[in-house]
Amino acid sequence: MKIRTFTVGMFQVNTYLLTDEATGQSAILDTGENDELVRRLEQFEREHGALDLRMILLTHTHIDHAGALSLLQKRYDAPTYCPTKDKPLYDTLPMQGSMFGMPHLDRPQGRVDHWIEDGAEIPLGETTLRFLSTPGHTPGQGCYYDDHDILVGDTLFSGSIGRTDFPLSDPKLMVESLRRLFELPGHLRVHSGHGPVTTLERELKTNPFVGFLRRERGIEGPPGIRWAPGT
Ligand SMILES: [Zn+2]
Repeated sequence: MKIRTFTVGMFQVNTYLLTDEATGQSAILDTGENDELVRRLEQFEREHGALDLRMILLTHTHIDHAGALSLLQKRYDAPTYCPTKDKPLYDTLPMQGSMFGMPHLDRPQGRVDHWIEDGAEIPLGETTLRFLSTPGHTPGQGCYYDDHDILVGDTLFSGSIGRTDFPLSDPKLMVESLRRLFELPGHLRVHSGHGPVTTLERELKTNPFVGFLRRERGIEGPPGIRWAPGT
């Protein structure tokens, strides 16, 4: 699967164009909060030819990830997949901007065609995307993955994890979700909702927010700060 990243909008969210290389079939993952992704995709099509777009996938429905769904569907309509457990947050999209003190970002919801559960398998050409539910940052936040790559939304970042102090967040669920996420193979390349690419293995060894997993599994963490004589 070929993965192209488009970092868009005022929240600099990573949205992704996923393409099954055998068939050229593509999916868009997450939307940004404005029309920047639409413009970037139009530019991409001018340079590379028309997209064979088969689906839109959402990791979760915070405004920076799903706020532009209706704009995207107006230009690139495709069956849209969203985690079932994020429905309560999805329902807030028309007033979510106001909830975060940015009423100009209140958005119509856009349309969801497939509400998906943990373990769902979604075929994209000859690729199968599997869905892992990782609630905590939001009630339904989830990850899509194949044998090489995982798209984690705001579950995990390079050196950090998603915030759990928002309305509808749950820090206890986040701990359970991280435990499940790190049961997947360490070689998986991690594509986050914000920031650079990493791998599960690298995060398990170095991420300061998963020290509890290192303790549970007896994995050595990053070296501590060394004292130099005389300092
Ligand atoms: Zn979020």
